[in-house]
Amino acid sequence: MSRFLIPQYASLEAYVPGEQPRDRRYIKLNTNESPYPPSPEVVAAVSADAVRDLRLYSDPECRDLKKALADRYGLSPKNVYLANGSDDILNFAFMAFCDRETGAAFPEITYGFYRVFAALHGVPALEIPLREDFSIDYRDYRNIGRTVVIANPNAPTGLSLPLSSVEEIVKSNPGQVVVVDEAYVDFGGETALPLLEKYDNLLIVRTFSKSRSLAGARLGFAFASEELISDLETLRYSTNPYNVNRLTLLAGEAAIRSDDYFTENCRKIMKTRDWVSGELKALGFTVLPSCANFLFASTPRMSGEDFYLGMKERGVLVRHFSNPKISDFNRITVGSEEEMEIFVREAGALQSEGRKGQGR
Ligand SMILES: *Cc1c(COP(=O)(O)O)cnc(C)c1O
Repeated sequence: MSRFLIPQYASLEAYVPGEQPRDRRYIKLNTNESPYPPSPEVVAAVSADAVRDLRLYSDPECRDLKKALADRYGLSPKNVYLANGSDDILNFAFMAFCDRETGAAFPEITYGFYRVFAALHGVPALEIPLREDFSIDYRDYRNIGRTVVIANPNAPTGLSLPLSSVEEIVKSNPGQVVVVDEAYVDFGGETALPLLEKYDNLLIVRTFSKSRSLAGARLGFAFASEELISDLETLRYSTNPYNVNRLTLLAGEAAIRSDDYFTENCRKIMKTRDWVSGELKALGFTVLPSCANFLFASTPRMSGEDFYLGMKERGVLVRHFSNPKISDFNRITVGSEEEMEIFVREAGALQSEGRKGQGR
């Protein structure tokens, strides 16, 4: 117990990021990073000249990158927001649109940070159970009178909601903000972008971390009505107007210029994902249908934790969650084809070893 942390934060259960062990080399399939490097254009953009310019503050308005994103997605720069990773945006959204009176609602099984942000800001959170098949029932969120936060595709399940269901949620809560976290949408989900022109309470949150290979650059973006963007800007300017640094702004612009490169990477990842899914099913695994760059899978042969530990011993890191509702499962990031061939081989070997040892 810290002597200095104020009581308000003393009982916070902070978010636990995926482990980054250094004891040996692992095939890292536990934090949903891209196996592919950023495009050559991104690498070139972070030049020696750009480094020399670091003596200057970054553009707090992020004009060039906002313009590039607006052009790419057919919007006005006034509908675009940028921050230091989408976690930063989600944090601002909880600050801006939730309080003791306006609580939050999100699925019981979803991105773990929503619960942390709600607790951080003293926001009562309604955690709505998923259906038996791990899907979100959009009807649970209609007329809910709370700020809704939904990841679509959801994490760690990978399941996706159709646009019509998202629209039902947005339409039936005109007085509340509906946050749709589209961190994984580029891997086969359906974006809520077409709803933006109809609904001013919709906030779409995106990131360069997954489909654009820039997890380490920390760059998130959001699309919404001018009103919501301006609310979020008030909070950004009240904390750190330079929260997106110069190198990251340049990297982001170059990433948008080389969109074809990233689209091709997503295509490769989806192809590898579908291959791994088939292989795991052939090994007897239950695998949820994924619209993301990861698979959520369980095996009847051993507990989720034993699978996680066994794979770690074999040099492959996957993500296990201790929540009993999903503790049979592991979330497996889709790596390169070569990495996933090793994963499938080791998963098969671990299963037959487990069977010999325990007969389970
Ligand atoms: C990875 C992830 C984020 C965080 O992305 P950053 O932009 O790297 O902060 C947000 N939401 C979901 C659902 C994620 O999986």
